[in-house]
Amino acid sequence: MLDFDFYSPEEEIVLPFYEEHGIRVFVKRDDLIHPYISGNKWRKLKYPLQHAQKEGKSLLVTFGGAWSNHLLATACAGAKFGFRTYGFVRGEAIENPVLKLCQLFGMELHFVDRERYRDKKALFNTHFTHSEEAYFIDEGGYGMLAVQGCSEITNELRYTYEHCFCACGTGTTLAGLAKGISSHRWSTTLHAVPVLKGGGFILDEIVKLGVANPTHIRLHLDYHFGGYAKTKPELIEFVKTFTRQTSLLIEPTYTGKLFYAVHDLIAQKQIARGSTVLVIHSGGLTGLLGMLDRF
Ligand SMILES: *Cc1c(COP(=O)(O)O)cnc(C)c1O
Repeated sequence: MLDFDFYSPEEEIVLPFYEEHGIRVFVKRDDLIHPYISGNKWRKLKYPLQHAQKEGKSLLVTFGGAWSNHLLATACAGAKFGFRTYGFVRGEAIENPVLKLCQLFGMELHFVDRERYRDKKALFNTHFTHSEEAYFIDEGGYGMLAVQGCSEITNELRYTYEHCFCACGTGTTLAGLAKGISSHRWSTTLHAVPVLKGGGFILDEIVKLGVANPTHIRLHLDYHFGGYAKTKPELIEFVKTFTRQTSLLIEPTYTGKLFYAVHDLIAQKQIARGSTVLVIHSGGLTGLLGMLDRF
């Protein structure tokens, strides 16, 4: 059995701003799980990798954009747990630090145009029809096995919270949290912060991922800052100030938007005085490598 033990403490963030509003904010430090198999990517890969091993597969095949945290996590996890890795990368061939790291961890990269990239199963089938070794992992690690891994966050918590916040790409982490919260019968309000434009699809997505009753979920559609991996000067300023004040490193693509949303909703008094809030730091700090020119 592969060993997926890790360390992810739950820490209070002490900020005058939170104190003024009478709210205690804690962060689940999934960013500390691993520098490259970061945050929720570790949790999402846990069961797929165990399944791949059980099936006798030796090659992980997956998909991502050129700055994908998931591609990098899969490349590193392959090196760590003894799989070869193959990544389909969306768009024309380029070089960047994240793709270089993927290659350092041994991943073979294959660039595909946006049209062909859309149908992942077709790509997998054409390239690996006769392969006994290849194991399909969807873009972003999306899937039911990944939901199971993410739901385990809730088993690790020492406290219970009135509010829990997470950043959303595919919605897999959100689905896991929703499942975990409902299995514990907590009344926690789960706040979803999609990092892309038009994130309303996330609610349909989590129903597909087996969340029967998403009533405790509040979707915040106004914190995408123009779309996926887009930023604005106020977001960059927020990331800088927050990091300086808390020593917690965040980045603009996911956790910057997430903590900005928490901050903004507190400022708007949408979180009641006396509440405790948990924010999931889902890692992904290598995203900063593509944005250093903004700072
Ligand atoms: C991939 C990623 C997410 C998105 O998670 P989903 O489960 O796809 O919604 C959130 N935060 C970080 C840092 C990520 O790398």
